Amino acid sequence: MANNDVLIIGSGIAALQLAVKLSSNLNVRILTKEKLRTANSYLAQGGIAAALGENDHPSKHVVDTLEAGRFHNNQEVVQEIITAAPELIKNMARQGEIFDKNQHGKLLLGMEGAHSEKRIVHGGGDATGKNVMEYLITELKQKRNITVEENVFTYELLLNNERNICIGVKAKKAAGSIQKFYGHHVIIATGGCGQLYTYTSNAKTVSGDGIAMAYLAGADIVDMEFNQFHPTLLYINGETNGLISEAVRGEGAILVTEDGTRIMEGVHPLKDLGPRHVVSQRIYEYLKKGKQIYLDISNIEDFRGRFPSITALCEDNGIRLADGKIPVAPGSHFLMGGIKTDLIGRSSLNGLYAIGEASCTGLHGANRLASNSLLEGLFQGEQLSKWINEGWKRPQIQPKHHDCHPKGEKAVHLPHVQQIKDSMMERVGIVRNEVNLKKQQAWLQQFKAEMIHLDTLTTQQLTKIFMLVTAKLMTDAALKRTESRGGHFRSDCPNEDDHHWLRKSIIHNYKQGREKSNEHIETALAT
Ligand SMILES: Cc1cc2nc3c(=O)[nH]c(=O)nc-3n(C[C@H](O)[C@H](O)[C@H](O)COP(=O)(O)OP(=O)(O)OC[C@H]3O[C@@H](n4cnc5c(N)ncnc54)[C@H](O)[C@@H]3O)c2cc1C
Repeated sequence: MANNDVLIIGSGIAALQLAVKLSSNLNVRILTKEKLRTANSYLAQGGIAAALGENDHPSKHVVDTLEAGRFHNNQEVVQEIITAAPELIKNMARQGEIFDKNQHGKLLLGMEGAHSEKRIVHGGGDATGKNVMEYLITELKQKRNITVEENVFTYELLLNNERNICIGVKAKKAAGSIQKFYGHHVIIATGGCGQLYTYTSNAKTVSGDGIAMAYLAGADIVDMEFNQFHPTLLYINGETNGLISEAVRGEGAILVTEDGTRIMEGVHPLKDLGPRHVVSQRIYEYLKKGKQIYLDISNIEDFRGRFPSITALCEDNGIRLADGKIPVAPGSHFLMGGIKTDLIGRSSLNGLYAIGEASCTGLHGANRLASNSLLEGLFQGEQLSKWINEGWKRPQIQPKHHDCHPKGEKAVHLPHVQQIKDSMMERVGIVRNEVNLKKQQAWLQQFKAEMIHLDTLTTQQLTKIFMLVTAKLMTDAALKRTESRGGHFRSDCPNEDDHHWLRKSIIHNYKQGREKSNEHIETALAT
C-alpha cells in the first residue's frame, strides 16, 4: 500500500503538465502502463493552436472551434481555454527551444484544416508532441517529489466505504502482482480509445481504460458517439501505419485519385482543408469502391525540411517521396467524449479527476478543431495544479474501502482484440446506421464485460474488458443519437437535427443506470 497526495494515471501531456506544475511540497506518483514516453502525446505532429498571428484574435479561434464542433461545444469552456492559449504558449516558448521560430525569434505559425488563420505553433518541424514531452520530462526529472512507476497497469478505482469518494486504484505490475495505491486526489489521464478500431493513429496503450474504469466506478461519461477519424493515415498493404499530419494539406497537399482527380472539389468550400469528418467520409467513399486515395505533395517546397518525421515514416515504409504521392486512409484518431468534467478536471465522483483526452470538458463539441487537444491537456494540467496547490485537501484517507467492482462473474469468455476492432470499424466507424449499431450492441452484450471480476485476469484480458466496456458506451450513444453531427455520421439520418439534438448530451452512468440531458449534467456537477 502506498499513500500519495496526488496519484496520476497515465503519462501523456496532461499528466506531465499537472505533475510539473504541482507544488514540490506534495507527494506525487505517476503510474503508467508501459514506458513514460508511450503516449499519443509523444506522437503528436502538427502542433498547438493559439491565436498569436498579427491578424488573428482568440474570438476567431473561438468561432472556428465552435464551427468544427458543430455547436455542440460548451461555449464557456471554449471561451476560457481559447482565450488563455496565447499566453500559455508564450510562457512555454520562453522556457526553451521547444517551438520553431524564424530568424527574428518569432514563433512560426502553421495552417491546418478548418482554421481561418495560421495559428499552429509547432516544434521540430512535425515533432511537436515529442518536443513538448521532452521539455516536460526534463522538468519532471528535476523534481524530487514526483515518482514515476512504469509498467503498472491500473485497472480498478477504489472507493471509500460509502462508495462516494474515490480514494485510490488497484494496479497490476509487470510480474502480475496486484498493488493498491491511495491518493487524496486521483487523476485519470489515460487518453482516449483509438485502439478500439482496426485503423488508428493512436499509441498501442490507448484503449479506453480510464474511461471504462471511471464508468464502472460510477462517474458520468458523456458524448461517446463523437469520435474523430483522421482523414490521412499512411496506408500500406491494407494497413494503416502512422499519421500524415493535416499540416501537410495546410502546406498545399491535395487529395487525389490514382489518375490525379481532385476528390474534395465541390464537396466543401474549404476543399482539402474542410472539417475532418467531411474529408474522412469522402476518402472512405472511394476506398469502399476499391479506389486508393493519395496525398499529392508535389507542390510542397522542401517537404523533407518541413516534415522530417513524416519523411522518415514514409521512407521507412518504402514510399518514394520523389513520386509526389502518399497513399492514405482514414482511421480513429481522437475521442471528443469521455469522463464528464468541469474546467478544473473534477468528475461527478468526489476525489476523481480526469484531464486530457480521457476527459470531456465540452471544448471540442461534436468534432475537435485540429491542434486544440494538446492545448486542452496543457490548460487542464495547469488548472488542476493551481486548484490542488491552493490547498484543498480531503480528510485523512480511510483505510477501509470497497473495491468499486462487483464480485461478479468469473468465467471469462472474451473475443479476440482484432474482432473487437474490426466490428467497431465496420459497425461503429466513419459511417453508421441503426442496423449495424444494433448488431454491434447485441454482439457486445453477450460478453457482460461490466460484470466480470477483474483481480484474477491478465493485463491482456483486462485490456479486452476495457475495450468492450468503452465500445458499448460508444455504440449505445451512437444508436441513441438519431442525427449526424461532427464526428458522428449516420447514413440513415444524415443531417443535423437541431430541433431534437442541438446541445443535448447523452450521459452514461453505470451506478445510476440512467441517461440524462444537459440540464441534469449541470445539476450533477454542482452538488
Ligand atoms: C499521431 C497523432 C498525432 C496527433 N497530433 C496532434 C497535434 O498535432 N495537435 C494536437 O493538439 N493533438 C494531436 N493529437 C492528439 C493528441 O496527441 C492527444 O489528444 C493528446 O496527446 C492526449 O494526451 P493525454 O495527456 O490525454 O494522453 P495520452 O498522450 O494519450 O497518454 C495516455 C497515457 O495513459 C497511459 N495509460 C493508458 N491506460 C492506462 C492504464 N490502464 N494504466 C496506466 N496507464 C495507462 C498510456 O500508456 C499513456 O501514457 C495527435 C494524436 C496522435 C495519435
